[in-house]
Amino acid sequence: MQEVIDKLSNEIQKGLSKQMHSRSTVKCWPTYVQDLPTQNERGKYLALDLGGTNFRVLLVSINGPDDVDIQTQAFQIAQPLMACPASALFDFIAECLDNFVKEKQLSDKELSLGFTFSFPMRQLSLAEANLVTWTKGFSCDEVVGKNVTKLLQESISRRGTLKVNIVAIINDTTGALISCAYNHKNCRIGLIVGTGCNACYVEKTCNVEMFEDYQTSQKPNMIINCEWGAFGDNGVLDNILTSFDRMVDKQTPNQGKQIFEKCVSGMYLGELVRIIIVKLMEEGKLFNGIESSIMHENWKFETKFISAVESDPPGIFEKCNEVLNECCLNDASDEDKACLRYICETISTRSAKLVACGLVTLINKMEICDLSVGIDGSLYRRHPKYHDLLMDNVKKYVGTDVCVQFFTSDDGSGRGAALVAALYKDNKSKKCK
Ligand code: BGC
Ligand code: MG
Repeated sequence: MQEVIDKLSNEIQKGLSKQMHSRSTVKCWPTYVQDLPTQNERGKYLALDLGGTNFRVLLVSINGPDDVDIQTQAFQIAQPLMACPASALFDFIAECLDNFVKEKQLSDKELSLGFTFSFPMRQLSLAEANLVTWTKGFSCDEVVGKNVTKLLQESISRRGTLKVNIVAIINDTTGALISCAYNHKNCRIGLIVGTGCNACYVEKTCNVEMFEDYQTSQKPNMIINCEWGAFGDNGVLDNILTSFDRMVDKQTPNQGKQIFEKCVSGMYLGELVRIIIVKLMEEGKLFNGIESSIMHENWKFETKFISAVESDPPGIFEKCNEVLNECCLNDASDEDKACLRYICETISTRSAKLVACGLVTLINKMEICDLSVGIDGSLYRRHPKYHDLLMDNVKKYVGTDVCVQFFTSDDGSGRGAALVAALYKDNKSKKCK
């Protein structure tokens, strides 16, 4: 773990530096978010959340710290939409937004919008960003390298009816940090362990060399979107990768990319477990003679199965049986079940340890001894032990004088995006009608 921490620390240092940036795998993108919420934010905001299994449209009314009302509509992102042309993707988003606004009878209101777009992006300003690369199975043509805000605005304009100011485009980690900071003043890190994995943290502006005003900015801090999912893309993690990791990587549209993410995040952990099980089945060491066509289908063993299997108390296989049922692996012996459980634990524990390495790296870098971390994501929320595993492993590696608290961030991608919109609503650089 110490070796991983040292390597990541080195990549982050390079990511921040103008001279070394191009050679770093961990890009540490400036977010242009230089303020944390004060609880004085008020108003009604729209938010969009794209970048996981769901796409969501939200209306967030911030009436005070104890009174934030969120109305939301979620849409499943079907597989074809993840690989369609840019115009189809953004037209779909604009259509959902339009319908939502009409349904809420807000069509004639001019509203500010915060767009949570959870992919690596190079910000041009708070409101505009170019997509650097797709991750998490997305592969829509003609978006990489393009100004995502502009694409969305064009789709919105084509509909002709919406009055929306896109005030900010943010990463989900930024949303998680901001949402947590609204209630916990000392929040300095936002972490997502969901379909993908990534973190952001509060850096001194003077260290953010990729930000053009880093020497002259009046504001002392800026949130940095690490994009640590790409850690290892240059081979520095090869010594900890297994043959199973390499097999999962081969099945993805972004081969050789997001190596760290593929060891830790929800999109991949189930598949890792499946590949290990299949190998043991083929060697005749597991599920003796039972045939399951499901287990032979790529991606069919979902990460939520890992959480289910691990939530049984010791010696009980209730949830485990349900999972085995879904996988057509009936009549497994208790020994087989214990084995499955052990495999799940191994994969989720490795994930938590690697993510802990990431957190320790950021905590050491900031040199502060009292902070909170705002965390969100399906794996973190659903796995019965992830929180404890993460906390225990972080505590082993940070100084004894450091006090870190972990909070589940309350809807960062919705509430967090709305709070950013509230913080910067007067930056009316972007207006589309
Ligand atoms: C993306 C990040 C995002 C993370 C969590 C990664 O695949 O590159 O931008 O924060 O997933 O959603
Ligand atoms: Mg999300």
